[in-house]
Amino acid sequence: MRAPRFKSIRSRLTLWYALVLGVIFLTAVLFLYRGFQASLQAAIDTTLQTAAEETELAILKTPPEKWQPAIKQVERAFLVNRLFIQVLEIDLGEEVSFRLVARSGVLAGNISQRKIWERLNAQLPDQPVYMNVNEESPSEHPFRIVLYPVKREKDKAHLIEVGTSLIKISSILHYYLTMMLVSAPLMLLLSVIGGYLILSRALLPVKSVVQTANRITTEDLSLRIETRNRKDEIGQLITTFNQMIARLEQSIFHIKRFASDASHDLKTPLTVIRGEIDIAMRKERDAREYKTTLATILDETRRLERVIDNLLFLSRIDALAHRVPLERVGLDEVVLEVFEKTQPLALKKGVTLGIEAVEAAIVNGDAILLNRLVMNLLDNALKYTSPGGRVEISLVRSGERALFTVKDTGIGIPEEALPLIFNPFYRVDQSRSERSEGSGLGLSIVKKIADIHKAEIEVHSQPDRGTTVVVSFPFD
Ligand code: ADP
Repeated sequence: MRAPRFKSIRSRLTLWYALVLGVIFLTAVLFLYRGFQASLQAAIDTTLQTAAEETELAILKTPPEKWQPAIKQVERAFLVNRLFIQVLEIDLGEEVSFRLVARSGVLAGNISQRKIWERLNAQLPDQPVYMNVNEESPSEHPFRIVLYPVKREKDKAHLIEVGTSLIKISSILHYYLTMMLVSAPLMLLLSVIGGYLILSRALLPVKSVVQTANRITTEDLSLRIETRNRKDEIGQLITTFNQMIARLEQSIFHIKRFASDASHDLKTPLTVIRGEIDIAMRKERDAREYKTTLATILDETRRLERVIDNLLFLSRIDALAHRVPLERVGLDEVVLEVFEKTQPLALKKGVTLGIEAVEAAIVNGDAILLNRLVMNLLDNALKYTSPGGRVEISLVRSGERALFTVKDTGIGIPEEALPLIFNPFYRVDQSRSERSEGSGLGLSIVKKIADIHKAEIEVHSQPDRGTTVVVSFPFD
């Protein structure tokens, strides 16, 4: 396959830059050339007009037989301009014709009066007429002339013709155009080289981004791309890229930690089971001893089951997080249902489970997930409250939100542990919670479910006095 010719941004930008600059240069050259030409012509026309006016004055002042020396004098006055002057007499009879009556200046002979007369349509003009003559054929001498009508009588008039050679001007213009056409591509080339170098310099950090990005792997996410100027576009890109890598590093760290915590939590019950079996098999035991061993194994198996169940639940809501279909759910019904289901457990544990208030509250949510959230919070309250204690629940409406509260008089949570309790596998203190009960996943599940419902959680707790958890749900 053929590689595309202008792959890099640098080459493409340089190409566009060269094209745009080329068009600008060309337009500028044409524009300047036209302007220069027009101003030169305007200067010539002014000279021609002045000379024609002087000639008019001269011939008006003198009789026709003295016109020849008179116009010679005018021509001398304009010597530097190398003009020629002629006076034509126009017969305005039936057939208009002309006759040369005075002439001065060596170049006058190079002009065909007949041709000029044709261009005037054999009519005497009312106003001075400017024209270029002999321009078409390269063999003839080009001139700029003015035809200046004077002294109109009944059947006779005079036409002053003043002209000058355009050869010098043409060669100046030609030289000017050549200079511009030669220097413009040269300037273009220099600008393009300059532009290319500036672009190369500006895009240099992109190269380092690519190189560093290639070196970053899941094994080594600690690398960051250096940037000198954080404010320019590339600096911002690098900063964003670095932030993205930092977030990725965080996520990978959490995943690794989660995996190691999960393996640990799965391995511990297995080690206990294995240990129990090892000991039981060392010698013959009586039925009571076997029963105790089997009871421990059963406990550990239940614990394993709970961990696996919670892990599966977590991974399922993680996968579904943004796609859980939410519908109108009566949160009060969910709360009452879980309350009733938990009552026997509370009785068994000797903890009083009561309801402060349950108001009707419809939220946008998923009934199964909400059930799990309420269940986990109640479960914790009962788990960490000693017999004789109290657990109170309530659901009240407050402005735009429904507040679900679980309040217990249990062992409480130390302040420094509060920010951590929602982390997976985090337990405040292994020794204080009965080993076989908590999996450390209950509150992370609560947090995920709350996030899906855009609900906020607040935990207030005082060690040995109790814990209050408030989940605030937005209404539909
Ligand atoms: P677990 O399954 O261990 O209860 P959780 O994620 O539900 O895990 O809770 C994390 C930790 O937070 C618990 O180990 C416990 O130490 C603490 N905790 C949660 N709820 C309460 C509560 N109501 N009272 C006291 N401690 C609590």
